[in-house]
Amino acid sequence: MSAPLHRPRRLRKLPAMRDALAEVTLEARHLVHPVFVTSRSESRIIESMPGVCQWPVEEAVERIAAWRELGIVQFLLFGVVEPDAKDGRGSMADADHGPVMRLIEAVGRARLDVILWADVCLCEYTDHGHCGLLREDGLPGDVENDPTIDRLGEIAAHLAAAGADVVAPSAMMDGQVRAIRQALSKAGHDSTALCSYAVKYASNLYGPFRDAGEGGMRHGDRRGYQMDDRRTREWAREIALDIEEGADMVIVKPAHTYLDIVASVRRAADCPVVGYHVSGEYAMLRAAAERGWLDLREAGLEVTRAIRRAGADLVISYLSPELAQWLD
Ligand SMILES: [Zn+2]
Repeated sequence: MSAPLHRPRRLRKLPAMRDALAEVTLEARHLVHPVFVTSRSESRIIESMPGVCQWPVEEAVERIAAWRELGIVQFLLFGVVEPDAKDGRGSMADADHGPVMRLIEAVGRARLDVILWADVCLCEYTDHGHCGLLREDGLPGDVENDPTIDRLGEIAAHLAAAGADVVAPSAMMDGQVRAIRQALSKAGHDSTALCSYAVKYASNLYGPFRDAGEGGMRHGDRRGYQMDDRRTREWAREIALDIEEGADMVIVKPAHTYLDIVASVRRAADCPVVGYHVSGEYAMLRAAAERGWLDLREAGLEVTRAIRRAGADLVISYLSPELAQWLD
């Protein structure tokens, strides 16, 4: 019988040894929890995302306070509005009576000691469902880049004025980071952080989010502005541009399916990197767990650690409340 000289198992035998040697950490402070706030008066369960709800403003404040108790400090806000409140320019994104604007102000009044990230995009608020402004003649076609980035700047400045700590543009328009940074600066919000969705793929894994945000499209798709998953180097250009334009942090979305990209971005960027564990990735875990095919707790922790291990400083996760409880 041969005796191996090297036995990696020596360091795996004792649980305390395994804990002592763990290099990847996952704590509640690493989590950013997405919150859907609705202009309706009642909460609504999102069927394709078990455990996730749309909350009216007052209830959202209570939920955020409860999640804060679990150690979650950061929240990413998305608004949901009635179809008849949508228009061509996404007015409800930053109207004073829009759900996100109201929630930011309500959380401010409640003094919850949390960090509020506001998604900056048009798709949840436009009647056509695209992330930007369409041609004025109403013809379906490419989203108009340059008028859109001005509109995104306007929205970001309003969200910052309401009290958003971080604005997170997700429209994938060229030059959006610079336009927003300038709009923030002009409005006196130089200290508002900007976390750009720098690397956002046109993924099929956003399906459940469309139910949650009620941002389905009337025509077309988003491949004209979101990235193509078959390209392996484009992320470098997007990251370089966004950092050069003034982004303080960058998001890779989706994260779990694109761990190679998270790792590459980590090596290339000197700013914090955020991985977005998206709705479809979440729904897959939930659905398998519901059937008893995997253990939600163990698989959820492992997947989130994988995103951290790939290099993400923060993980945006719909599983944040459960993760925070399991980590406790
Ligand atoms: Zn969008």
